[in-house]
Amino acid sequence: MAGYRGRFAPSPTGPLHAGSLAAALASWLDARAHQGQWLIRMEDVDAPRCVPGADTLILKQLADCGLHSDLPVVWQSRRDAHYALALSQLLAQSWVYGCQCSRKDIETQWLTQGVRRERHQAWIYPGTCRTLNLTPESARTELAWRFKVEPGVLSWHDRWLGSQQQDVAAEVGDFVLKRSDGLWAYQLAVVVDDGLQGITDVVRGQDLADNTPRQMRLQRALGLPLLRYAHLPLVRDVHGEKLSKQQGAPPLDTQDPLKCLNAAAIHLGLAPQSGTVSDALLAWTRLIHSSYAKLKT
Ligand code: GLU
Repeated sequence: MAGYRGRFAPSPTGPLHAGSLAAALASWLDARAHQGQWLIRMEDVDAPRCVPGADTLILKQLADCGLHSDLPVVWQSRRDAHYALALSQLLAQSWVYGCQCSRKDIETQWLTQGVRRERHQAWIYPGTCRTLNLTPESARTELAWRFKVEPGVLSWHDRWLGSQQQDVAAEVGDFVLKRSDGLWAYQLAVVVDDGLQGITDVVRGQDLADNTPRQMRLQRALGLPLLRYAHLPLVRDVHGEKLSKQQGAPPLDTQDPLKCLNAAAIHLGLAPQSGTVSDALLAWTRLIHSSYAKLKT
C-alpha cells in the first residue's frame, strides 16, 4: 500500500523483553509486507520512569534482530515545543481546561457519593474543574491540563480485534494532557508525534487497545488524520500475567537473535526459520505479504 508508515514506540524504562520484541517484530513485518516504512520513537516523556542507557540498549537489541528505523530515531524528551504548540492550539479552541484535583480529591469525590472501584481500575474524572475556568493564578495548586471529552460512543475497526466501541466520556472522563508536575502525558505526546511523523498504522500490544478512542478524540480535535490500528495478543508468563519490566520480565538476550525472533514469530503464529536473521525476516515478510494479497482477491 502506498504511503504506509508504521512505528515501534518503546518507553525506555528498561531493556526489551520477549513481549516487546513480539510487538516490534509485528509492526516491522506489517510495514514491510505493505512495502511501507517503519520508524522507532523513544517515548521518554515520563522522565522519572526512564532508566539511563535503556534507550541505547533497546536500539542495540533491535539492531541485533535486524530491526532498524528507516528515519532517524526520535526522542520525545526533545520535542517539548511540539507538545506545547498542540496544547496551546487546543486551549485556543477551548478543548482543554486547567484542573487542580489531586488523585486523592478525585477518589474522595467518588467515595462520598458511595461509588467504589475495582482494584487497579482508574477513577473516571468527575469533571469537577471543567467549568471553573481556573488559571495558574487562581488555582490553589499547580494545574494539570485536561482534554474535554465529548459525550457519545465512538466506534472503530481494529484489524486484529474487529469492531470496537467506547464511550470515553462515561468510561474514562476528561483526561490529562499535561500533568501538574509539568510532564507531558503519553496521550498527547503519542498523538502529536504519530501525526507529525505521518504515521498511518499502529500495530501494538492489546494492553494499549483502550487508549485508542482517547487518541482518536485528540486526533480529531487537532485536525490530524485518523490511523489504522491492530492490537495484538500479549506474550504472557506461565501464570498468565503479561510480561512487563515492572514484573521483572527477563531482558532479551540478543546474543542469539534468531532464537529471539523465532520465539516472537511463533507467538505471532508464524513458523520458525533457520538461516540468517535477514533470511528469516524476508521469509516472514513474503508470507505475510502473500496472505494480505490473498485477502484482497
Ligand atoms: N510507549 C508505549 C509503551 O511502551 C507504547 C506506545 C504506543 O505504541 O502507542 O507501552
